[in-house]
Amino acid sequence: MNVDFLIVGQGIAGTLLSWFLHRAGKSFVVIDNGAEPTASKVAAGIINPVTGRRYHTTWKADELLPHAEKTYAEIGAHFNKQYLVRKNIIDFFPTPGAREVFVERVQEGHTYMDAYPDQNHFNRHIRYDFGCGEIRPAFVTNLPALLADWRQWLSDKNALLEEDFVADDLQLEQEGVRYGALRAQKILFCEGPAGTANPWFRLLPYALNKGEALLIECPDLPNTHIYKKGFLLAPLPVQGTFWAGSNYAWEGLNEGPTEAFRLRTVQLLEATLQHPFRVLHHHAAVRPATVERRPFVGLHPVHPQIGILNGTGSKGTSLAPYFAQQFVNHLLHDAPLTPEADVRRFTRLLSK
Ligand SMILES: Cc1cc2nc3c(=O)[nH]c(=O)nc-3n(C[C@H](O)[C@H](O)[C@H](O)COP(=O)(O)OP(=O)(O)OC[C@H]3O[C@@H](n4cnc5c(N)ncnc54)[C@H](O)[C@@H]3O)c2cc1C
Repeated sequence: MNVDFLIVGQGIAGTLLSWFLHRAGKSFVVIDNGAEPTASKVAAGIINPVTGRRYHTTWKADELLPHAEKTYAEIGAHFNKQYLVRKNIIDFFPTPGAREVFVERVQEGHTYMDAYPDQNHFNRHIRYDFGCGEIRPAFVTNLPALLADWRQWLSDKNALLEEDFVADDLQLEQEGVRYGALRAQKILFCEGPAGTANPWFRLLPYALNKGEALLIECPDLPNTHIYKKGFLLAPLPVQGTFWAGSNYAWEGLNEGPTEAFRLRTVQLLEATLQHPFRVLHHHAAVRPATVERRPFVGLHPVHPQIGILNGTGSKGTSLAPYFAQQFVNHLLHDAPLTPEADVRRFTRLLSK
């Protein structure tokens, strides 16, 4: 069987890359082993344009946010579903100092931050002492539904191989690649953290880290906002359920969910929520983060029949739509890649 592209991985990166290739009329097969849990299946899917204690705007937010909104709306129209909902973030200040910094940013005219006029509005639901502010727009993406719907679509089109990709079985040819009975012009790797073992890209400076989350039921908490108070509490599609997380661990990546995280998060929830809640689930996954906090996008400098879309770290929901589209424009029309994301910035490393 001949196709234009082979894609390895159907997390959010492989899903959106294949979506844009489909939109461009290209043929492809996606190889994904259906592993659980993965970053894309465990993530809250939050898109937050502000980061850090000093409330900086996240990298390229002005371009990423509109692009993400447009992309998820288009896929939603394709499946007659809504995958992205706007849920602004209510940031409950942990200290008077944090409140001061927030107010300063609002006074400077920050694009994504606003004062919340009714400071007591959330008192019935959340315990807080130093006031709150609003970060907007922010969004929650329904990644489990999106991934499952796209997987079904791929399967219906005979464009899905549900198995482990074995790098030793890939043959590089003059004009493309061969993998078993499949021939393609190019192979594009969207393997998430497994990319650290990829023979062609393993030298890239990854900085994998693990994150955990609790899924809770709290029927009396309004699902109108994402709540931020040391951790994030994001409303999920099932009424009365929320995602609570997360943490960043650089050791014990394969240990899965830890009792320490569960205990600490339950304590934080008890101290924060005015309502009873119940833990439904606890899960963990590894984020494909990078040392420079920038993704890896583009073609291998020595083997141009091999490409990569990886390294989205903690921001896959907003980075993947933008860079999947950019990568497809690069593949099909030789359009330029953002230099900070272009994998050719590591040409020397990848030429070894
Ligand atoms: C706890 C937690 C919370 C997060 N919250 C957010 C958030 O709120 N917002 C946000 O934007 N991001 C969030 N992230 C980050 C986000 O999850 C990642 O940026 C994103 O999911 C990475 O997607 P990916 O497709 O690159 O990798 P993955 O999701 O890891 O997907 C890779 C896929 O490739 C498959 N695969 C790998 N190797 C092979 C092989 N050899 N053969 C076959 N299949 C293979 C895997 O099974 C998997 O399906 C969070 C992450 C975690 C862990």
